[in-house]
Amino acid sequence: RAFNFSAGPGALPEEVLRQARDELLNRGGCGVSVAEMSHRGEHFIAIAEQAERDLRDLLAIPADHAVLFLQGGGSQQFAQVPLNLLPEGGCADYIDTGFWSVRAIEEARRYGRINIAASSHDDGYRHIPRQARWRLSASSAYVHYTANETIDGLEFDWIPEVGDTPLVADFSANILSRPLDVSRFALIYAGAQKNIGPSGLAVVIVRKDLLGRARRCCPTMLDYRIAAGHGSMYNTPPTFAWYLAGLIFRWLKAQGGLTAIAEINRRKQKRLYDTIDASGLYVNRVEAKDRSWMNVPFRLVDDRLDEAFLAGAEVRGLLYLKGHRATGGMRASLYNAVSEAAVDALVAYMTEFERERG
Ligand code: PLP
Repeated sequence: RAFNFSAGPGALPEEVLRQARDELLNRGGCGVSVAEMSHRGEHFIAIAEQAERDLRDLLAIPADHAVLFLQGGGSQQFAQVPLNLLPEGGCADYIDTGFWSVRAIEEARRYGRINIAASSHDDGYRHIPRQARWRLSASSAYVHYTANETIDGLEFDWIPEVGDTPLVADFSANILSRPLDVSRFALIYAGAQKNIGPSGLAVVIVRKDLLGRARRCCPTMLDYRIAAGHGSMYNTPPTFAWYLAGLIFRWLKAQGGLTAIAEINRRKQKRLYDTIDASGLYVNRVEAKDRSWMNVPFRLVDDRLDEAFLAGAEVRGLLYLKGHRATGGMRASLYNAVSEAAVDALVAYMTEFERERG
């Protein structure tokens, strides 16, 4: 198999794919595929419950938080959060650190007053504004930030301190990449297709006392209280994606959990950033303390070499290194399923390419 640096859907652990293949026709002797099971039958309920238990173990999710397996990916949450947490006429604070913050802000603006409490727009999203500079509003329904900017390559390695105001964060691209104190959050959401599983699924972790606040106009399907009350099965859930997510949670536990995977992730990103910083050909402009472990965007100083770089990478089985269309350049995503061997292969290629063409 090739080395997959795709930003999303991203690489999945090979062991998980093999297990899914082995069980595709007949899961655990049930006689049918998971994709064919009734979501209300005992076999799927067992799969769903095990997945939630494993996710709770991995992230040490407190009992006063509900775990929801929803549809609509990360983007649906941009509307679902305000529909549930922003009262009519209310105000919410958002931190703008890049492309995905902007998406969240634009959607939230349809539902109420949005205060941009801090933004790094003016320096081209090269840093995360320190909290001392944030201008939070006096009566905010919640504070929202994007814990990892998948396109701009920024990541919070700290949790904002917002007192009693509910803290909401988009962890689509960095959930499960290292330990996280979930108790500090009112709500965490994540589109699945990076560290959780295949696309089509979103995981929401929400404090139970925040359920039941949805606006009257909120569609039933988007009301967190309805989802929680039905065990995320108000309608037919994306069963196969949920099952694969469960296998990935198991795989993560077998790797030693989040402390162990964080050590691997720390080494992976360091190797790549060190290579970029030591080179005269590759550049990453994000301030060192705010660099993402999961998504490493970089440019070639001479962008006429971009095509040759990508072609050479593909020949070596280093796939999906082309940067997002909004930014150009390159991007290597280093999700949990991207091995250290993959990063070694990438770094070796980058060094060789610079020697020959730089
Ligand atoms: N938020 C972040 C940080 C993302 O990286 C993405 C997608 O890459 C999204 C939200 C949107 O997720 P989806 O495509 O599942 O709607």
